[in-house]
Amino acid sequence: MQSDPVLEVSALTFEYPGKRALTDVSFTLPHGAVLALVGPNGAGKTTLMRSIAGLDDPMSGSIMLDGVDVIFEPREAYRKLGYLSDFFGLYGALTVRQSLMHAAGMRALAQAEQIAAVKLTAERLGLTSRLDARTDTLSRGWRQRVAIGQAMVHAPQVLLLDEPAAGLDPEARIGLSILFRQLRAEGMTLIVSSHILAELDEYSSHMLAIKDGRAVEFRALEATAETGVTLRIGFAQAPADDPALRTLLGVHGMSAIHAASSPSADAGWALQGTFKGSAADQAMLLKALVGADLPVVEFAVVRENMHESYLRSMRQEAPAPVVGSAA
Ligand code: ATP
Repeated sequence: MQSDPVLEVSALTFEYPGKRALTDVSFTLPHGAVLALVGPNGAGKTTLMRSIAGLDDPMSGSIMLDGVDVIFEPREAYRKLGYLSDFFGLYGALTVRQSLMHAAGMRALAQAEQIAAVKLTAERLGLTSRLDARTDTLSRGWRQRVAIGQAMVHAPQVLLLDEPAAGLDPEARIGLSILFRQLRAEGMTLIVSSHILAELDEYSSHMLAIKDGRAVEFRALEATAETGVTLRIGFAQAPADDPALRTLLGVHGMSAIHAASSPSADAGWALQGTFKGSAADQAMLLKALVGADLPVVEFAVVRENMHESYLRSMRQEAPAPVVGSAA
């Protein structure tokens, strides 16, 4: 993942007549990120996607897409992005091949490039055997695949997909997860809105949770040198000197320390926190804990799953303080 941003959304506010749908939404995505856009029905996900796609004009704020101002240069931005609406339409009289060629033509690909792009897109979405079928003869799931193909046939820098897995059978859903990981590895940035959190977990690098039009949480899901990892440490029983433990952990690179929500069977008491450092630094921390005669029974890097992140962000919970902390 390149670290320079491909998308910068700043203080975006959007109103429908008489209805505020987005308030002060800001986030930045690097190249090769996959953003899981989550939130309850009516939270503002579609409105945000449509604004980024340059289809709706926000009241205030800015959207920079690969250096292009989407609000003031929507046509220039259009070249760089692909968008699948949650409710899409296909021309029923066209075949799958014609539909993909049409989409490639709309994106101004040269004729020779169009043929190659359609072939590749059809392969990626498992559509090759149906290229000559009229789209009005296809089932909902196959039509969905054609619509995704139309959104990505021109290899956009940023691909916006509103509920892309809706209507797909389990095999096609797995295929889509694999495809998203491939696109990401090629440097494409994706924003995927879905209510199926377990699927988002498989390929997303970032999460933006929206509630009532506000961004309640935006974060990277994968550990980086900057973000650090979440470390979970379990003890046979709660340490007697909590401030001393906190100091020891802090000295060895741990911050944002809080009680773990559910200690495992072996640990009578556990904590979690952010650890910044190498594997050797982790080993040093473990050695220091054992050296201080603390009854460590668990020491592990954990990754919060999307479901946990979602529920926590919807409750807008702050991390709990360390149990028994004097701080
Ligand atoms: P869902 O998960 O149900 O698809 P969403 O998060 O995509 O929801 P949006 O469709 O962006 O939510 O809607 C955000 C808010 O804006 C909702 O309260 C919705 O009722 C309102 N809204 C959406 N479109 C319009 C419109 N054209 N006119 C007025 N209000 C609208």
